Amino acid sequence: MNNYRNYINGEWLESVSDKTIQNINPANVKDVIGTVKLSTREEAKRAVEIAYDAFRDWKNTPAPTRGRIVMRAARLLEDNKEELAQILTREEGKTIGESRGELQRSINVAEFCAGEARRLNGETIQSELPANFAYTIKQPHGVVALITPWNFPVAIPVWKIAPALVAGNTIVFKPAESTPSTAVRVVEIFEEAGVPKGVLNLILGAGAEIGEEIANHAAVKAVSFTGSTEIGVKLYGQCASRGAKVQCEMGGKNPVVVMEDCDMDLAVESTAQGAFGSTGQRCTATSRAVVIDRIADEFVERIVERAKRMRLGDGALPETEMGPSVDEKQFNTVLRYIDIGREDGAEMLCGGKHAEGNGLENGYFIEPTVFDRVTPDMRIAQEEIFGPVLSVLRVKDFDEAMVVANDSQYGLTSSIFTGDPNLIFRFVQEIETGMTHINSPTTGGEAHIPFGGIKMTGIGEREQGSTALDFYTELKVVYVDYTGRKREGNLY
Ligand code: ADP
Repeated sequence: MNNYRNYINGEWLESVSDKTIQNINPANVKDVIGTVKLSTREEAKRAVEIAYDAFRDWKNTPAPTRGRIVMRAARLLEDNKEELAQILTREEGKTIGESRGELQRSINVAEFCAGEARRLNGETIQSELPANFAYTIKQPHGVVALITPWNFPVAIPVWKIAPALVAGNTIVFKPAESTPSTAVRVVEIFEEAGVPKGVLNLILGAGAEIGEEIANHAAVKAVSFTGSTEIGVKLYGQCASRGAKVQCEMGGKNPVVVMEDCDMDLAVESTAQGAFGSTGQRCTATSRAVVIDRIADEFVERIVERAKRMRLGDGALPETEMGPSVDEKQFNTVLRYIDIGREDGAEMLCGGKHAEGNGLENGYFIEPTVFDRVTPDMRIAQEEIFGPVLSVLRVKDFDEAMVVANDSQYGLTSSIFTGDPNLIFRFVQEIETGMTHINSPTTGGEAHIPFGGIKMTGIGEREQGSTALDFYTELKVVYVDYTGRKREGNLY
């Protein structure tokens, strides 16, 4: 059994707290992986102070040197890929294939950010004055707080830690309560890669205490958060009052639009992957299928048939297609939304309950669930469920499909299935999401491509890709006058 420790000032320290929670395998609740001590506010404050003290030296370390450390972390992630994938599956429940995919994404992100360390460039700018010029440099903020969720407990920390380090910030990292094993391993990897002491600090604890403590600490200049909209918006408000920078990646209610001329096999399989892959616990999961009436019966029949064929089980088994909900709380949330869907009058065509047989009753497994004849006003059409639940909304034509698809407070990702180039380009133009996919699932992304959403999904700069370092740097503008003389008059 693991007893997880905090990592502060280069040392692994046991919290003095007497509050603990257990880390449980969601595929089999009898498998207790470890015990997490929920750290105290004092410990969180100390982590921030240590990061503050470490900042000056780290900032003055040349960016390519910082990048080399991140590159070493990429190599270590690669060397330890299988071990981390196994830990991830046991702790979070996703299938081993999904875990390996998440590890590969993390490696790619670390590699990409390491390369960016040699491109942390500014620009030179012509002046209106003779013998003058201006230039810009990118500088780190200082201490940044990274607050992460449980659904991608390796990739999300890596895609925040790597750019934060490359930019020259020091870090206090607070992972989700339910995924401490992966958080500890990620930090161990950066430690082994050579991150100097005090530069990266890990503090385990409750969001409402530790998360709030670090996000509101005066020395924390920027907060990068991934999680629920409720908490993200709250942090945004709190940080605004002291001018701290905020980046939030929050909820989604991602639609696929299925047109009459679609490749039906592709549309069904991609929707199933998007809706039930990772047990629907991705912010990019497909949760609404907006389908043209004339083909809706066929689509519904086939997606239900596919949902019923999903092989549920322990993610560690190679044949498993879908794992459990991450914990009891999430399991109960999903079941509650299924009840709400029924009460609101949607037609539940399959799933809807705790899966049984082959030991599934020992884990938080919910049968893949499809609701038909969902209307935009229903709560299951509007609220993020984060489980294997798909809502089908029937529409008469493309114009109505766009109104329905955009009828959401969220705007992360979307997809359309059609062979008509006119509709594809109209869709790209009109859909209100930060990312969109054509004839492919709503999920997925690449390390060197920006990631993020609009509306209530995203606040601040995009993560990853060409924009990965934007949030972690401030731009300084420098005016250089090399006339050696007092300036005549005033330009303006
Ligand atoms: P999820 O539903 O994905 O768990 P949350 O928004 O509750 O989303 O949690 C995401 C992260 O935010 C977790 O690390 C959690 O501990 C942290 N968190 C939760 N509440 C707060 C809070 N009030 N302030 C700061 N962080 C919080």
